[in-house]
Amino acid sequence: MTDQRRVAVVTGAARGIGAATAARLAADGVAVAVADLDEQACRATAESISAAGGVAIPLACDVTDEAAVDTAFDRVAADLGSLDILVNNAGVLRDNLLFKMSAADWDTVMSVHLRGAFLCCRAAQRHMVARRSGAIVNTSSVSALGTRGQANYSAAKMGIQGLTRTLAIELGPFGINVNAVAPGFIVTEMTASTAARVGVTPEELQAKTAAVTPVRRVGLPADIANAVAFLSSEKSSFITGQTIYVDGGRRL
Ligand code: NAD
Repeated sequence: MTDQRRVAVVTGAARGIGAATAARLAADGVAVAVADLDEQACRATAESISAAGGVAIPLACDVTDEAAVDTAFDRVAADLGSLDILVNNAGVLRDNLLFKMSAADWDTVMSVHLRGAFLCCRAAQRHMVARRSGAIVNTSSVSALGTRGQANYSAAKMGIQGLTRTLAIELGPFGINVNAVAPGFIVTEMTASTAARVGVTPEELQAKTAAVTPVRRVGLPADIANAVAFLSSEKSSFITGQTIYVDGGRRL
């Protein structure tokens, strides 16, 4: 590890798992660009990291917008000095059973998760290859293994695993490790929206899920942030192309 402060972009970092990951990396001494759809959404997260003594900037970036991604990543490298870590975390749900799923909902999920991760990886590697160093952590899900009502999301999240393995092969020779985390049930606005969709409270869904999870609890954003921190540190430099399930032992 060099003495110079490493620099990370965390996408979808205004809230939930991304916000916790940004805070955890900042606590580890990493300068973090808190990227989300608009700068206003990122500002509170960036400010709370700064208030805790970390270095963070808000970064407006729709990960599906090719030009916006390239511009945002160049800005991070210019403003913070480098780009060492990319955490592809931005995500959306558009759940429905296949016969009711619109093509638009299929496309939206594919676009945010897969096109978004592709565009961000491509933009980040330009800076990382030049320095022969970097770490990319993508976000899959236990849903990659198949979940009723999530044909779009499941396909995208398994696609993330293929992207991760392929980029590990392509970027490894340049000192860049590419891995994925696959969260189980994590308490965020995303899982609260799932509870609303199936007609129960978030607490009811959490209790039901905890009961069928071997460690008998649901996950918190910090559980994923801890795994991402490890996979983006030098401690994991011989690990690449892997998807680590962080799910309390539960497979759907
Ligand atoms: P969340 O809904 O709380 O936060 C997602 C963030 O992504 C939001 O701030 C949103 O504005 C942002 N976002 C959406 N579209 C974007 C775009 N086009 N460009 C930039 N930002 C965009 O979700 P979360 O629960 O924190 O999930 C984070 C990631 O973890 C997602 O990829 C999700 O699929 C994955 N995941 C979550 C769970 C879970 O149980 N919460 C489980 C498995 C995987």
